[in-house]
Amino acid sequence: MSQLSLPSKVIICEVAPRDGFQAEHDWVPTETKVDIIRKLATTGIQSMEITSFVHPHAIPQLKDAEKVVSQTQDLTNIKFRALVPNVRGAQRAIDVGIKKLKLMLSATDSHSLSNANAKVEEAQNALEPIIDLATKNNVTVGGSISVAFGCPYEGIVSIETLLPIMERYTRMGIKEISLADTTGMANPNQVYNYLAVLKEQFPNMTFSMHLHDTRGMAFANSVAALQQGVVNFDSSIAGLGGCPYAPGATGNIASEDLVHGFKEMGIDTGIDLDRMIAVSKEVMQLLGKTTTSSYMLQAGPNSQLSAKPTSQVKIES
Ligand code: ZN
Repeated sequence: MSQLSLPSKVIICEVAPRDGFQAEHDWVPTETKVDIIRKLATTGIQSMEITSFVHPHAIPQLKDAEKVVSQTQDLTNIKFRALVPNVRGAQRAIDVGIKKLKLMLSATDSHSLSNANAKVEEAQNALEPIIDLATKNNVTVGGSISVAFGCPYEGIVSIETLLPIMERYTRMGIKEISLADTTGMANPNQVYNYLAVLKEQFPNMTFSMHLHDTRGMAFANSVAALQQGVVNFDSSIAGLGGCPYAPGATGNIASEDLVHGFKEMGIDTGIDLDRMIAVSKEVMQLLGKTTTSSYMLQAGPNSQLSAKPTSQVKIES
């Protein structure tokens, strides 16, 4: 019998400080954001998307991006990256000391028009000056493709749609691409098959997965990506998040669920699961939330056994 061969170690990037907070309706005070980031830093997480340098009118929740970054600079064991939509945002990020930028781009014209007010090609052209600025400042840049598998306005996104975007990114010198299932429309076959094509056509590109769990498919999709050798995954504590431009979209796969699933499979994340579940509970309290899309907060991990019944339990039908 042949055994499934999977990577033994993965890197998880915590995205709640960006993807989670930006979806919060009520203002999250800067000190609460910083407090949550500090708690997350105690879980063993190595990488974090700390904020987005968007125009404060576009996402008022992230208008304190500079303050959040400057108040967490002592957390040197974590690699921080920030999302930037334009040159102005990139300059703000670089000015406050961010060493890794993530570019924003949608796969479809409809999503791109609602997100970046430009069609895909035009939006991608506008990324070039960001890369120039980052290169001058010795700052790393990764690309991303939102709605890479499915678009809430256009349906399933074909692999042919992704190829010219990937080619352009490659010509721009981008070496890392985050494939985002922004509204949870991907399925494992699609993830596996798209990655097979992308890896073959762009063998020097590193792929990472940004999977939302809108339809409960994110963990299955993570495994499909693992089977293609992907080792970089985004997740969000307690499953916080959504997409301000995609109606009904929910958050990324909950970090504790992803860590638990990988742990059960014997894959090392470097994260302390019990600590992460505790932090997830604290984050829910800090944000005053009662409902959660975290399986760990509802059922607990596999290792948490229930007490055996002490007397005969009558099964009633
Ligand atoms: Zn997202």
